[in-house]
Amino acid sequence: MEQIREWLKSSKHTVVLTGAGMSTESGVADFRSKSGWWQQINPRTVATTEALASNYELFHRFYTARINALEHIVPHEGHMILADWQQRGLVQHIATQNVDGLHTAAGAENVDELHGSIRSVRCQSCGQAAEMSRFLAKEACACGGRLRPNVILFGENLPQQAWNNTLSHMKAAQLVIVIGTSLEVYPVSQLPHMTNGKTVYINLEIEHSHFDRMVKGKAGETLKIIDASL
Ligand SMILES: [Zn+2]
Repeated sequence: MEQIREWLKSSKHTVVLTGAGMSTESGVADFRSKSGWWQQINPRTVATTEALASNYELFHRFYTARINALEHIVPHEGHMILADWQQRGLVQHIATQNVDGLHTAAGAENVDELHGSIRSVRCQSCGQAAEMSRFLAKEACACGGRLRPNVILFGENLPQQAWNNTLSHMKAAQLVIVIGTSLEVYPVSQLPHMTNGKTVYINLEIEHSHFDRMVKGKAGETLKIIDASL
């Protein structure tokens, strides 16, 4: 921990990359966890462009459940600490695979949401933004197109600008802290390989040997320990 603090203080360019494990302490169910009714069906068959086009009933039910599950979810202390580090100039960039918007809700700025956001919706046909309430009511766009959340579905490309921005931060980084992501999903899984800086991996369940430092622990709890004597 002491080494991580030293790196954090001496690094002139620190990037934080977060995944599902960052949100679990806020009560957001991991997409891949064993609980939740959608475990009866593989998300990879629902969170897809195919389901959007040919099984909208299921697609809509899946996302309605996920959106409703976020209703009372708020950022935890770990999100606050990262936003605070950004404010203090200890962190230069935050990128996330999470679609829940919790970093921004905690006050972090210019967060790159690499897998999009579930907090807003648009029309699949004309691209026009629409009210969330209209999606939840299963209304169609004025053009007749289907409404959908602004998440990146399987089969879709990552948002180019967010990806390029994060990539350039990775290349410039002296320190990269990866929190709560299993790094199973391509191409985000490649990002930690794009830096010449020190790398830290914080995860409760998974270990990755190619990082300079591994911390086995919950995201929020670990960040609190690091922050305590920073
Ligand atoms: Zn439309």
